[in-house]
Amino acid sequence: MSDTDTRYDHVFRNALVFDGTGAPPFTADVAVNGERIAAVEPPGTIAAAAGRSEKDIAGRALSPGFIDAHTHDDRIVLDAPDMLPKISQGVTTVVAGNCGISLAPVTFDAYPPAPLNLLGGPEAYQFPRFADYARAIADIVPAVNVAALIGHSSLRLATMPDVKVPATPGQIEAMLDLADEAMESGAAGFSTGLFYPTNAAAGIDEVAPIAARFAGHGGVYATHMRDEMDKVIDSIDEALVTAGRARAQLIISHHKCAHPRNWGRTRETLPKIEAASKRQPVAIDCYPYIAGSTNLRMDLVTNDYRIMIAWSTPHPEMGGRDLADIAAEWGVDIHEAARRLDPAGAIYFQMDEDDVRRVMSFPLAMIGSDGLPHDAHPHPRLYGTFPRVIGHYARDEGLFPLETAIRKMTGLTAETFRLRDRGRIAPGFFADLAVFDPATIIDRATYDDPRVVSAGIDEVYVNGTLSYVAGRGVVGRAGRLVGGKNGPPPTAS
Ligand SMILES: [Zn+2]
Repeated sequence: MSDTDTRYDHVFRNALVFDGTGAPPFTADVAVNGERIAAVEPPGTIAAAAGRSEKDIAGRALSPGFIDAHTHDDRIVLDAPDMLPKISQGVTTVVAGNCGISLAPVTFDAYPPAPLNLLGGPEAYQFPRFADYARAIADIVPAVNVAALIGHSSLRLATMPDVKVPATPGQIEAMLDLADEAMESGAAGFSTGLFYPTNAAAGIDEVAPIAARFAGHGGVYATHMRDEMDKVIDSIDEALVTAGRARAQLIISHHKCAHPRNWGRTRETLPKIEAASKRQPVAIDCYPYIAGSTNLRMDLVTNDYRIMIAWSTPHPEMGGRDLADIAAEWGVDIHEAARRLDPAGAIYFQMDEDDVRRVMSFPLAMIGSDGLPHDAHPHPRLYGTFPRVIGHYARDEGLFPLETAIRKMTGLTAETFRLRDRGRIAPGFFADLAVFDPATIIDRATYDDPRVVSAGIDEVYVNGTLSYVAGRGVVGRAGRLVGGKNGPPPTAS
């Protein structure tokens, strides 16, 4: 093709293209016009000087921007819209509203209960309708796109005076109205956090009709299951039955077999999920670490694994310290120390490295950070997840090829969450792009020093706009709501 007349906004020459499908990389010239990819051609085929911006990126990888399948970024996209922790990893879209927790549609007079407090206090919850949240996103224009799930705990707290019991038919009706409003205003689906006290009283008879309503609008169903420890198999059954009844795409969140006595059981869970995938649409997400993080919960406090404090309201000085050390310093046991620290957040070293690798390697596994951006001393996954999967697990450890790593954070994720025209490098797709050095990309955030940006990411583009440059930081913001009804009708090949 000789496009001598064509003028593009950006042309990348000699890019090593990972196209998001899982296919091996190939060298190409890639042209962008406006918000979309206009051409992917063999090197030298696009006319010289056809781009207003011309970059020879020989030796560098060009991939779709990464999609963070699992976040709690509902509020940070408004409060810190540069989104440095994510865009510095190459992330161009975040899926917010996971684990039953979403910023909309709910407000609070008093301090919100755990786990809603992971997003902040009553001042954070200002959106009685999802449309109010959608407008806030459109007004602020965050650096990354946002696919917003609606959390069941948020719906329950918006409609029920007491969330410790199952919802009545009338309360379910009220939640269905909120579901309609959210999906009509641009939400991407529904999430539960059945593990959490604000959600645990909801059984299949409550969850399935709500998930069905979201699915009827094209929304997905993501679940932080009731139990990721001894009863993990029962919980997978519950998730499959619920999604099957709702006819919804199921996403099992941050899949794990937690607690040393369950280590190795991903040999049972993954074949079960694999078998179910022949009958109904199911995927999972995971992060590349052996530690999880959430509120400090008395039922998770044990000497069986290491626990690090991420934040504490009464003792903020204890962020980043181990619970066992704090207890020793105070001359009390860990349970008493936990009571004194509460409300607090914690990092639990409760997984087995072999399980983490097995889950990450599973063909239906997407990468999701589950980072907690408001924590004083966050889990390093907030800053390091994506470069760690590519640099540590794929390149250095050889767990899977780089193109597989990229697929798990681009094409697979866009397909699963129905993010139209995203997650691939092909003509017609949105120009969400990451330029990185496949030889040096690596995470640098650690448990002791978690707020460190990763190495090897050169440039990130969102909707065709240059948004992040290594060494300069965030240079543009062009994100928007995606998923659900958002976006134009399909045009991509
Ligand atoms: Zn969760």
